[in-house]
Amino acid sequence: MALINDNFIKLPGSYLFSDIAKKVNAFKNEHPDKNLIRLGIGDVTRPIAQACIEAMHRATDELSHLASFHGYGPEQGYDFLIEAIIKNDFEPRGIKLSNHEVFINDGAKSDTGNIGDIFNKNNRIAVTDPVYPVYVDSNVMAGRAGILNKNGCWSDITYLPCTEENNFVPSLPSEQVDIIYLCYPNNPTGTTLTKAELKKWVDYAIANNSIIFFDAAYEAFIREEDVPHSIYEIEGARRCAIEFRSFSKTAGFTGVRCGYTIIPDEVTAKDCNGDDIQLNRLWLRRQCTKFNGTSYVTQRAAEAIYSEDGKEQVKANIDYYMENARIMREGLQKVGMKVYGGCNSPYLWLKTPVEYSSWQFFDKLLNDANVVGTPGVGFGPSGEGFLRLTAFGRRDDCIEAMHRIEKYI
Ligand code: PLP
Repeated sequence: MALINDNFIKLPGSYLFSDIAKKVNAFKNEHPDKNLIRLGIGDVTRPIAQACIEAMHRATDELSHLASFHGYGPEQGYDFLIEAIIKNDFEPRGIKLSNHEVFINDGAKSDTGNIGDIFNKNNRIAVTDPVYPVYVDSNVMAGRAGILNKNGCWSDITYLPCTEENNFVPSLPSEQVDIIYLCYPNNPTGTTLTKAELKKWVDYAIANNSIIFFDAAYEAFIREEDVPHSIYEIEGARRCAIEFRSFSKTAGFTGVRCGYTIIPDEVTAKDCNGDDIQLNRLWLRRQCTKFNGTSYVTQRAAEAIYSEDGKEQVKANIDYYMENARIMREGLQKVGMKVYGGCNSPYLWLKTPVEYSSWQFFDKLLNDANVVGTPGVGFGPSGEGFLRLTAFGRRDDCIEAMHRIEKYI
């Protein structure tokens, strides 16, 4: 008799985005003439850099010739891309990595969701609240979360509230946690940690034999000096941190799919005998069994991000989104709204006026200004009273949205 993994039954449906879609569709049916501006989605709108497109064309041509055909590649990625990553993303920041410490993947969602495979079910997980839902749901699937309480929190997960009161900087947990998910620049709040703040987490992890999963998917949007791009800028992090990166928002690869994960040789965790086991070795074993590599064409496209033209074109796209973020932030502040993020990140975390909950304010923006955001409470209880807006839209839409909000709020 086949039995299912009952943990999947515990998972609530993905109500957030389906509830948003339902409300938006109902509004469109009632008001077919209204032009909705969607600033809720986390998908990019700018086309992929020309250098990457040209590299994809060249790679496709290579595959069409006997002499240059490529079939299965190395599961952990081609050296040409790994070397470009190390040379451009890490060496300029004084971080040394060996090729085998970099694992190319099909985007950060897969690896942030799958990394739990190599960890014991009994590890205690800590997440910031609000949080990117993949971290929580993947642990529910693995049986690490316990039961869902009425307040929307899982009984066996430690939540680290990120609120206005603590300036969105989570406090160290008061109980022992084994695995800590940190995402900076943060989705959804758009806020960051300084090097000194991140150092506290690295010190905690070393002192408690914990592992930090550091999601740096939005690293390319950092503008300020004291904000770490990589956790390995922090002393000691090679002993306790795994870092996830993504080309999705950086280079418009949300549909192409490519990212990478760093697991330094020094990161270890205990086996049941109390011996230290290298996580790099376990992850390689896991990937070689369950993953057959990112396509050659995609990896050639990712390599082109690091060409002179690629760097310029990718920077132009990021500058475009960050200019959107500036326009939105200033537009919202002009009408007296409190807004966080948007300085080192494409996300703006908008405080709802006191009389509105996240969902009430979502409804008001939808109905009065015809602008779609994402209710903050959908990312966790500490998101109540906030709305997330993204700067990934088209410039004229961002400007028009601010005019409408100014008029109606
Ligand atoms: N991590 C965070 C924090 C994200 O917001 C996202 C995407 O929205 C991802 C990871 C997934 O990125 P990818 O497209 O590389 O799978």
